[in-house]
Amino acid sequence: MEVIFLGTGGTVPTPERNTVAVAVRVDNEVVLFDCCEGCQKQIMRSTVSFMKIKKVFITHFHGDHFLGLPGMLQTMGLLGRTAPLEIYGPEGAEGFIENLLETGYYGLDFDVRARDLKPGNTVQEAKFTVEAISLNHLVPTNGYLLREKTRPGRFYPEKAEELGVPKRFYGKLQRGECMKVGEREITPDMVMGPPRRGISVAYCTDTTPDWDTGAAKDCSLLIHDATGCDALKEKLNTFGHSTARQAAEIAKKCNAGKLALIHYSQRYREVSGLLEEARVIFQNTFAPRDLDTVMLKHED
Ligand SMILES: [Zn+2]
Ligand SMILES: [Zn+2]
Repeated sequence: MEVIFLGTGGTVPTPERNTVAVAVRVDNEVVLFDCCEGCQKQIMRSTVSFMKIKKVFITHFHGDHFLGLPGMLQTMGLLGRTAPLEIYGPEGAEGFIENLLETGYYGLDFDVRARDLKPGNTVQEAKFTVEAISLNHLVPTNGYLLREKTRPGRFYPEKAEELGVPKRFYGKLQRGECMKVGEREITPDMVMGPPRRGISVAYCTDTTPDWDTGAAKDCSLLIHDATGCDALKEKLNTFGHSTARQAAEIAKKCNAGKLALIHYSQRYREVSGLLEEARVIFQNTFAPRDLDTVMLKHED
């Protein structure tokens, strides 16, 4: 799984940073979380193809999270897209997207299907799911948990050999089918370990640290609102945001594999101070720049 940070800034873009958008590539499909103003230019600068984006998940309808949609949709249309695009968001998303599509002389030759997601609602794909998570911000806001589906357990050829299974039947057992050696039935669990958890990415911005983190427990990567430094804690929390240190506390609480800070305020030209504050609490933190890419690999 590949995570491409298309935009990492919060609220107002700067010469160095776009506002927020993150693409996740799973196999051959791309899921886009938020769509900042100028997102399509960031996509052009990255390895992401417009045609591979099938689903867009908007966290909330503050401008820094969705204003790139009209331009991106128009470009997709001009590039000859015919495949439908699904756009999900918190309560009100359907109405906002409908209004966007009715602004100006806007014609698209592909379907845009918008749907509201309540926290706990899950969108199913063949190889992964995306679940909406309730965040705590000034307006209705969803975080999202993308989770690769459970993978079959590890196959132990030595156990199969011991049981006298001919090599040509290994594939059958690995696909979950049973077989017989003489009179004895061999079942997959006799030669395979328990199912393995898939990789998961939790995308959680904008929010105060006060949200129910249960859904993001044990996620491989947590991407969390880290608008500013700890000295501004009260002010940031009042405006529905978190500090880098608070993001790290959430990562620790969730037992996340890694933490990516995101949505930095425009007041920070460079964010090493935020990174330091977070690393005191959660060492495996990084502060991505626009267009940075992170590969997440299976550990077992
Ligand atoms: Zn924002
Ligand atoms: Zn916001």
